[in-house]
Amino acid sequence: MSRYARQELVPWIGAEGQRRLVESTVGIVGMGALGSASSTLLARAGVGRLILADRDVVEMSNLHRQMLYTEADVADRLPKSEAAARHLRAANSEIAIEPLIADIMAEEARELFSRCDVVLDGTDNFETRFLLNDAAVEAAKPWIYAGAVSDYGALMAIVPGEGPCLRCLFKEAPAAGSVPTCEAAGVFGSAPVSVAAFQASEAVKLLTGHKENLARWFVRISLKEPSLAITEFKMDPNCRCCQEGRFDFLEERAISSANRLCGQNGVMIIAPKGTRIDLAALESRLAIFGRTYRNKYLVQTDLEGFKLTVYEDGRTMVQNTSDAAKARSIYARYVGI
Ligand SMILES: [Zn+2]
Repeated sequence: MSRYARQELVPWIGAEGQRRLVESTVGIVGMGALGSASSTLLARAGVGRLILADRDVVEMSNLHRQMLYTEADVADRLPKSEAAARHLRAANSEIAIEPLIADIMAEEARELFSRCDVVLDGTDNFETRFLLNDAAVEAAKPWIYAGAVSDYGALMAIVPGEGPCLRCLFKEAPAAGSVPTCEAAGVFGSAPVSVAAFQASEAVKLLTGHKENLARWFVRISLKEPSLAITEFKMDPNCRCCQEGRFDFLEERAISSANRLCGQNGVMIIAPKGTRIDLAALESRLAIFGRTYRNKYLVQTDLEGFKLTVYEDGRTMVQNTSDAAKARSIYARYVGI
């Protein structure tokens, strides 16, 4: 019996749809709760290649909703994309899985869309979503917006040229602090998992050639009542992105490089392109100041009450502060590049 026999019995998938899935490449940006669930569904469904991008490490407070990860991943301080790749390979060894430990900026977004048939949003911030939207419109490839917080969430398949883009719906990124975040409003695991299930299903429809069945419109799922609402949006004839072809986020005009952490008590410092850190040397330097941990991917240490996580490409997360200037000074003092 084939691995996908039961799935092929679904009339609109069939053997032909399955063949198309196996030949497809899907990118997932953000391997939190949404990415954990959508990647699990797509890996098991037999999508031939998955590219999993995330910039963070698995933490204990992730486990209640980010279904791919285990306590061992927390103990090993594994980057999420690496931990995800290991677990998904154990579920399906017949597909290719590429972990990408990185912050998705313009160059990475362009590269991702050039390689993928569809990209799934697993991010937690509008800056990255607008960046994905720009890259999708530029490449004329679909992406699937999604978000979940508290006990509700939303998604929309965005097919450039055929329907509204994200900037037709939201002209600008919402002001910081104006949108509920997981940190402030909490999150109930069923919300992102429900949204991700719809998201993966929209991806499978796109990949198997069933665009006619896409939800197309903005789908809002609420678990408490429960309810599912679909709102129709039209293309905005004055949209800067899909009508005027101006890619503000891809050109990084609208993106700040120091403080890109949404709703978290932390600041991410982006190092200059091409930076390579000798993690072993950094660890021995930092060990003088505090308890230090190193694995293949990062060095982590507690300094002056701040938690520093330094990745090989120089990207550094400074936790326990939201003051970008303070974070930069800690970075300059201890990482010093
Ligand atoms: Zn638009």
